[in-house]
Amino acid sequence: MIWENRWHPLLERWVTISSHRGARPWQGARVSEIGKAPSYDPECYLCPNGRRISGARNPNYDQVFVFDNDHPAFGVDAPVTSPSQEPYLTSRAEGICRVMCYSPDHSGRLSGLKALDMQRVIEVWHDQTQMLLAQDEIDQVFIFENNGEVVGVSNPHPHCQIYALPFVLPVTQQIISALTSYRARQKVNLFDDIIAREIADGRRLLSESSDWIAFVPFFAQLPYETWIVAKQPIRDLTHASKASQGQLGEMLTEVLGMQDRLWPTPQAYILSIHQAPKSLSAESDYRCYIQIQPMLRGAGLQKYLAGVETAGGHFLNDGAPEEKAAELRATRSA
Ligand SMILES: [Zn+2]
Repeated sequence: MIWENRWHPLLERWVTISSHRGARPWQGARVSEIGKAPSYDPECYLCPNGRRISGARNPNYDQVFVFDNDHPAFGVDAPVTSPSQEPYLTSRAEGICRVMCYSPDHSGRLSGLKALDMQRVIEVWHDQTQMLLAQDEIDQVFIFENNGEVVGVSNPHPHCQIYALPFVLPVTQQIISALTSYRARQKVNLFDDIIAREIADGRRLLSESSDWIAFVPFFAQLPYETWIVAKQPIRDLTHASKASQGQLGEMLTEVLGMQDRLWPTPQAYILSIHQAPKSLSAESDYRCYIQIQPMLRGAGLQKYLAGVETAGGHFLNDGAPEEKAAELRATRSA
C-alpha cells in the first residue's frame, strides 16, 4: 500500500497516491462493453470513400490519410476579433487542425497496427510536424488521440488529431519553466534525472531502447499512466532519425498492447505527443515524449476527474505506479 504525496517535477505540483482507495466499493455505472465494429462502415466519415460533413468525399486510401478538420477549433480563416481590454482579452483562434486516420480498417486500433503500418504512422507524424512547423505563424505542433467513448469519442474509426498552433500550450510552458529552474538549481537536465531515477529504481519501467524509455512515472496522475521519453536530445519528431522513429514505433506498439491486454475490453485513453515549440532556444533541455493517459482504472471502471482534480487542480491517483507498472508488464505473458 502506498499513501503519500509525490512531487511532479515537470508540472511543479503535488500528486496524491492512495493505492488503498483503488479497491473501494463502487455502486455507480460501469462502462459497458462495446461490440466489435465492422471493418468498413459506409456511414463513417473517416472510412475510405466516406462522405464528410463538408460534402467532400475521402479518397479510397489504403494506409494513412490526413485531411483538414471540417470543424476546426483553430483555423486560418478564424474571424478577426474586436479590440479588447483587460481583464477580458480576446485574440483570433488562429491555427491549423487536421485529422489523421491511421488505417482504412474501421475496426482497427493503433495498438493493433502491423509493424510496417505503425512505422508509416510515425513517419506521417514526423512529416506533418515538419511541414506545419515550416509555416511562419505556427509555433507548436500538438498531436493527440482521444480513444474510447468515455473520452467522448463517438466514432471508433482509428484516428488522431494534429493541432498546429501559433502559441505554446500551457503544459509545455510549465515544463519549459520547470526545466529552466531545475537546470539553474541542479546544473543538469531534469529529463535526464527522471530517466536515471526510473532506471535506478526499475519497478516502474516498461520498456527501453537506445533512444527511448517507457515507464509509469513516479509522479503518475492516473493509474496506468505511461510515458515514452526520448533519452537522446530529440525535442520534436523532426529530430528523430529513421532508426529512432523505428524504435519509437516498436515501443508504442508494445506499451499500447500492455494497456489493451489488461482486461477483456481494451483501455480508453488520451495519447499525446509533446513536442517543443519552434521558438524554444536550441539550448533548452526539452525532450519529446508521448503520454498515454488511461481513463479506465479497472475493467469497466471509469476514472472520473471530479472535485479535487477538476475544480482544485490536484490529482488523486488511486493506483500505486509501482503496482500498475507490474500489472502492465504481466500482460506480456498473459
Ligand atoms: Zn470508418
